[in-house]
This record gives sequence, C-alpha cells and structure tokens, in this order.
Amino acid sequence: MKNLWSPWRSQYIESFKEEQANNQCIFCEALNHQIEDLKTLVVYKAKFTYTILNLYPYNNGHLMVVPNRHEWKFEKLTKDESVEMMEQLKYAKLVLEEIYKPQGFNMGLNLGRAGGAGIKEHLHFHIVPRWNGDTNFMPVLGEVKVISQELMETKKKILTTYDNLLKRI
Ligand SMILES: [Zn+2]
Repeated sequence: MKNLWSPWRSQYIESFKEEQANNQCIFCEALNHQIEDLKTLVVYKAKFTYTILNLYPYNNGHLMVVPNRHEWKFEKLTKDESVEMMEQLKYAKLVLEEIYKPQGFNMGLNLGRAGGAGIKEHLHFHIVPRWNGDTNFMPVLGEVKVISQELMETKKKILTTYDNLLKRI
C-alpha cells in the first residue's frame, strides 16, 4: 500500500457495479434500516449523516461517513452536513482507536470514477485503520456479497463502543 489513496480505489470496489445497475443507491437505501437490523452495516446515525461499515473492508473496522442526502458534489454539501461529517469522522476515529488500537489511519474521499469512487453518485468519506505491514488484507474479488459473521461481530463491537463513547462526551 504505497499510495495513500489506493485502499479503496482497487478492484474490490467494482463489485458495487451490480447494485448500481439496479439504479438503487446503496447509501440511500441504507437509511431505510434500523441500526439494530442485521441486514445493515450502519453503526451510527447522526442528524445529517450516518456512519456505516464497508461491506468490502480494506481492513478491520473500515468505516464510511455518509451524508443522508444523495449528493455527489463535495462543494454542494451544506454547512451543517460538512460540520457534522467532520465530527462523525472524529467519533469514528476514537471508536476505532479504542477497539483496534491501529498504528495509523487513512481518511479520505474519492470523487468521480477517475478519483477511484466505487459509488460516485453519493459521496462518502472513508476511514481505514492501518497497521504496519497490513497490505494484504484486501478480500478476493468475487467473494460472496453477504454480510459475514465477522462483519457482524465488528458491527456489535463498534455499536457498543459508540454507546460508551457518546456517554463520555
Ligand atoms: Zn444516494
């Protein structure tokens, strides 16, 4: 992983194409579920944004902070959305630090197909915990698209940690 932005611009993102072909935005659709719902990877809902685990994580705990509104232009985010996205990234970082004790993070936004966005129609910030020498985690393309037991365990841990964190701040 030499390139800072390559974690999420690789081919695993291509697996989202099927959803796109159905004309369904998975980031809009995610809002239809309660957090407790086993079908969703959403871990936190704020007022204008939410936080969700990546179904194709680059690393354990790969989260995304997403505006509720279907928007692809970064500059069109409202002030409320912009502020809240940054706040939610801070929470996500604290939660991941508490659970995984990573040695570093990648945080960022891929805009447009050329920028490596998997779902370019609805922007989303990635936050990926990193460890020295973790470059081979990426799952093999074509892996079944079901929420794995491992991801559900991750979700549970993250939910609990969010609860505890929000009580403290
Ligand atoms: Zn959308």
